[in-house]
Amino acid sequence: MVMPLPQPATSSIQIIDDLVAERQNGKNAAFFNGIHAEWRTRVQDYVAQCGSPEFIHDWPAVAHKKKSFLNLYLSSRVGSTQATMLDLLDDHELTLCPACGEAGRPNTLDHYLPKGRYPHFCVTPLNLFPMCDACQKEKLEKTGDANSPRFFVHPYFDVFVAQRVLELSIHRPYDKPTFALSVRPGLTVAQTALITSHVRELAIEQRYAHFFRGQHRRLLRLVNEMRSNDQNVQMNLAAFRDSYSDPSENSWEHVFYCAVLADANLLDYLENSQLPDYP
Ligand SMILES: [Zn+2]
Repeated sequence: MVMPLPQPATSSIQIIDDLVAERQNGKNAAFFNGIHAEWRTRVQDYVAQCGSPEFIHDWPAVAHKKKSFLNLYLSSRVGSTQATMLDLLDDHELTLCPACGEAGRPNTLDHYLPKGRYPHFCVTPLNLFPMCDACQKEKLEKTGDANSPRFFVHPYFDVFVAQRVLELSIHRPYDKPTFALSVRPGLTVAQTALITSHVRELAIEQRYAHFFRGQHRRLLRLVNEMRSNDQNVQMNLAAFRDSYSDPSENSWEHVFYCAVLADANLLDYLENSQLPDYP
């Protein structure tokens, strides 16, 4: 699941000055000179409002130049200001998607505020972060609706997701359980609404159903081994849980083992019942 990311090294304000300076001899020089000050102000607002679509407005006056903005992102020349910034963002060492927690290197960049509607943020470093293909496919141009103006966790600003934000419950029968995800109690009303919409809009619960089934089968196998080796089941499971809290308390394994250890009935089943023999 979600995890916060350190903010990009490239300044979201400075890059505008550099982009405008680079265009002084091009055919769009007059256009970029004309919007320079307002472009800067709009990015400053983005930073001040933490990227929230609730408070950030469209820019109709530049709609006719949408393509010129998008070209900054889509056709960046090697060595240009924005290509250097994009290379830095691509040069990460993440081993899971910060939006959903899918294991593996997220190999695309997402525009938190979509570039179709907000083309002037298409090369704003604070609006770009690594994401997996499956999340991108679900997110597309979505930002929010009338009921929840902001659907998605912002990995650079929503630092509260450094703590565990989801709770998994495991329901009987324990040899073939069902799973339910909910927002962890103790978060604020706004945080709860944000996590709820993030999970819903990225279809996270559906996408991870098979993961939890697989983890549970693995759990039964592991506990069978522990019991046949006379090992302390709860101590071992706690060690698994703690090892999975890195790089994020919201890693799916960590959420899973927290659920196991919080369920006294399941622990009793694991320690004392005849467990099925999975291959
Ligand atoms: Zn993802």
